[in-house]
Amino acid sequence: MRTKIVAGNWKMNNNRDETETLLAELSAKLPDTDAQVIVAPTFVNLEVSTRALESSTIEVAAQNMHFAENGAYTGEISADMLLNIGVDTVILGHSERRAYFGETDELLAKKVKTAVDKHMKVIFCFGEELEERKSGNHFSVVENQLKNGLFHLDAQAWKHIVLAYEPVWAIGTGETASPEQAQEMHAFIRNTIAKKYNDSVADAVSILYGGSVKPNNASDIFSKPDVDGGLIGGASLKADDFVAIIKAI
Ligand code: 13P
Repeated sequence: MRTKIVAGNWKMNNNRDETETLLAELSAKLPDTDAQVIVAPTFVNLEVSTRALESSTIEVAAQNMHFAENGAYTGEISADMLLNIGVDTVILGHSERRAYFGETDELLAKKVKTAVDKHMKVIFCFGEELEERKSGNHFSVVENQLKNGLFHLDAQAWKHIVLAYEPVWAIGTGETASPEQAQEMHAFIRNTIAKKYNDSVADAVSILYGGSVKPNNASDIFSKPDVDGGLIGGASLKADDFVAIIKAI
């Protein structure tokens, strides 16, 4: 049985007060669930979040980190800094990091390695752009992102990895992949991992779908056999919407 996960990527939203308010509401309304619930606030609000969630099952993730141990990297955050404040999960490879901050597969491979070496959990994001889907290249794009970003890991390391397939054309657009499109790609991803490693690695890894998941489409998407949960953007900023999505799993 794979772990079901619903994670909220808050992106660059919510100041400290808003963070505390949203977490209080979320904690109060959190339904009974077997799924792991994760929120990823911005760096400056991580510590206030871990404190607010001390007695909650909700976990806190960072949205990014640097690969280096420490040193002259102005503006950056290391794995140890996150671990030191109780954050042991990190989102890496989000399409916004790739598109707006020039993060390449090569850089991400280093970040993933550091995170795994530090025993952190990585939510690794990838997915094709609209043109790539239109031209029928989406499978090879995704395969390359997996190979370049993750296939330097040994099989053991995969217990630290959660995958998040996020087609870029579905992020923040209100246009979601159909449940069938999500299932088709998730099955392809699992098969690609099975070919490189083995069935037990492939069967154990949770693969989340991300891209305009909302309360009204979540249960259809989550009902697919290879979809193990969601990485939620906009709808994770409202407690009621996020709770409805958690209930859908
Ligand atoms: P939306 O749910 O707002 O489309 O964002 C998805 C996403 O980017 C999650 O990381």
